Amino acid sequence: MSVLFRILLIFILAMLVARAFWRLVAGIIVGASMPPASRGPRKGPPERGVQMVRDPVCGTFLPPGNALTLTERGGAVRYFCSETCRERFQQQSSARR
Ligand SMILES: [Zn+2]
Repeated sequence: MSVLFRILLIFILAMLVARAFWRLVAGIIVGASMPPASRGPRKGPPERGVQMVRDPVCGTFLPPGNALTLTERGGAVRYFCSETCRERFQQQSSARR
């Protein structure tokens, strides 16, 4: 009788341990699967790999896609943040000559 009771007690204990273990495993699985799901739609900052160009007039750094360009006589390309800066640069370069 006492042996049977002990076996039953061990069996119940094993059930409780197994349940706690599975709850822990489920928690780990949920915890591990959550970050990629929340991370999925978010992407890194755009134009991270794009090399920035400098406006020679006002010194602003901007991505080449957003910049106004001016090709000089020597073939060098200048980038400007605005039409105002481009005109100013053209005036300065023409005043030098
Ligand atoms: Zn500028």
